[in-house]
Amino acid sequence: MNVVLDSQPAEPGRENEDFAAAAPGGAVLLDGAGVAGAETGCVHGIAWFSSTLGGLLLGAITAQPARPLAACLADSIRAVRSLHEDTCDLTYRASPTSTVLAVRATTGTLEYLVLGDSTVLLADTDGKTAALTDQRLDDVGQRLRGPVDALPTGSPQHAAALAEYRDALTGLRNRPGGFWIAGPDPQAAEHAVTGSVPLGSLTSVTLLSDGATRFVDSFELATWQEMLRLLASAGPAELIRRVRESEAGDSEGRRWPRGKAHDDATVLHWVLP
Ligand SMILES: [Zn+2]
Repeated sequence: MNVVLDSQPAEPGRENEDFAAAAPGGAVLLDGAGVAGAETGCVHGIAWFSSTLGGLLLGAITAQPARPLAACLADSIRAVRSLHEDTCDLTYRASPTSTVLAVRATTGTLEYLVLGDSTVLLADTDGKTAALTDQRLDDVGQRLRGPVDALPTGSPQHAAALAEYRDALTGLRNRPGGFWIAGPDPQAAEHAVTGSVPLGSLTSVTLLSDGATRFVDSFELATWQEMLRLLASAGPAELIRRVRESEAGDSEGRRWPRGKAHDDATVLHWVLP
């Protein structure tokens, strides 16, 4: 299995809340989230949540190749819950959550699961790409975030508007009409976007957190095809370096309005034979 992977925290020395890993025939990527400044009720933290859930999920999809990815995710959410429900208060509104991507190659088929705003990028033998994302968080976000984007990133007004936006967003988490994300409740797994494509038509499968996809979908500095060419020639670390370089040139978010000047960025690029 030909996989290259890099993951960098938003700032050097800070905890990385993204997690990605691969095992023969499968891979996962998770982007952990909380509510900025809010008490999580969890003594372990967001990075623990995303890495523990990711490790269990990778094990589950590998050990039980016939079990649907969404069922494996529900099992894994339940398992993480049992690991900390005695020590932590999981009823907190800002309890740790995470996006989830999972892909698995079985006989002739690639199965995928997407929950939250991380992206699976499929490249096919005709040179076409398909970015599989879960639009719901984005849709809800667009509805709510107008006032935030009008203000310079880093200003007190921006911070206040952002806090209000995040609070409103948290209120729509794991609710009909809102968006779905992995947290304490295994039910979220039922709302994941899932599907499968013929494996023979694919040349690569790439998993990306939104800290990395911003190079294409927000900054528009490359197309998906150009990004894949960069990954093939220079690898994930170079893509993340270019993201950081672009962010540094727009630290106030005037050119590219965004919640965080920098975000944890993760890329797992799986080249198929
Ligand atoms: Zn905990």
